[in-house]
Amino acid sequence: AGDKEKVNSVAKIKVVVRKRPLNKKELAKNEEDIIETLSNSLVVHETKLKVDLTEYMEKHEFVFDAVLNEEVSNDEVYRETVEPIVPIIFQRTKATCFAYGQTGSGKTYTMKPLPLKASRDILRLMHHTYRNQGFHLFVSFFEIYGGKLYDLLSDRKKLCMREDGKQQVCIVGLQEFRVSDVETIKELIEKGNATRSTGTTGANEESSRSHAILQLAIKRSVDGKESKPPRVVGKLSFIDLAGSERGADTTDNDKQTRMEGAEINKSLLALKECIRALDNDQGHIPFRGSKLTEVLRDSFMGNSRTVMISCISPSSGSCEHTLNTLRYADRVK
Ligand code: ADP
Ligand code: MG
Repeated sequence: AGDKEKVNSVAKIKVVVRKRPLNKKELAKNEEDIIETLSNSLVVHETKLKVDLTEYMEKHEFVFDAVLNEEVSNDEVYRETVEPIVPIIFQRTKATCFAYGQTGSGKTYTMKPLPLKASRDILRLMHHTYRNQGFHLFVSFFEIYGGKLYDLLSDRKKLCMREDGKQQVCIVGLQEFRVSDVETIKELIEKGNATRSTGTTGANEESSRSHAILQLAIKRSVDGKESKPPRVVGKLSFIDLAGSERGADTTDNDKQTRMEGAEINKSLLALKECIRALDNDQGHIPFRGSKLTEVLRDSFMGNSRTVMISCISPSSGSCEHTLNTLRYADRVK
């Protein structure tokens, strides 16, 4: 019963916003910080023009589970978002942590350290609380680009997806590494991140059009029989989503860009619908809307937890994108 209470004490859906500091480029352009933060709410101060071109301010207020300002460290982000979920992964829970926001808002900066910190805690539990109980930790890392799957730990090998009869998602050929120390995990994460950004047009450009998915799976050998394949007990997925502004690339002159934009738009909308369906405890969850939600299907079923980290720039120049991000997060909440 104690274990069940532990699981139930963690919110099903948590939505937090992270505001980054103004960067050099924004400061050079004299852009101002228009985001006022409190512990769980924020106000966007938008400058608008009247017909006679005089300026006036419009305030937009939003409330979330937490608002993390520019002074909050990555360690604190971890403590606020993923740390509470780690112990319940051992209790048949699947949890997903998303970073959402426009390109340059801090998604990768926020997301990169989280799996490492989580695996450090998972391994600690495995080596102490759950010592000698047959638990193993596995890591995989792949991306969805233009609706197709690529393995980031296997030279971007193209992958395909299949569903088994038990509504488990199987990504055929995806490399999974069994890990038992933090150093190896660190190397794998670095390798995957490096593979992700090997684009022809520069790192941020390429990665802004793909969703990167890092999964930590906890498996357990049945009855201590090492000969049988271990079964998945819980899973923790970290998703660095494509730049939210890319979903609007649907009128671009380049056909490829248009198609990718349409796919991103579709996946971000489908994601929002799936999370909302989770919250309402509806039987039907609209996975089929996109590759992203299909891949995450088993993470949305049964005992699941979702954390959405919405990343925003503080700058006046990003006001419109920031409002879009906050409205998206508001709908998920
Ligand atoms: P995205 O992945 O959303 O495109 P990045 O994570 O690459 O954005 O962040 C863009 C830039 O801003 C990077 O140089 C990053 O180091 C910096 N940055 C983002 N968030 C923060 C933060 N909270 N504190 C300091 N620098 C940040
Ligand atoms: Mg990024």
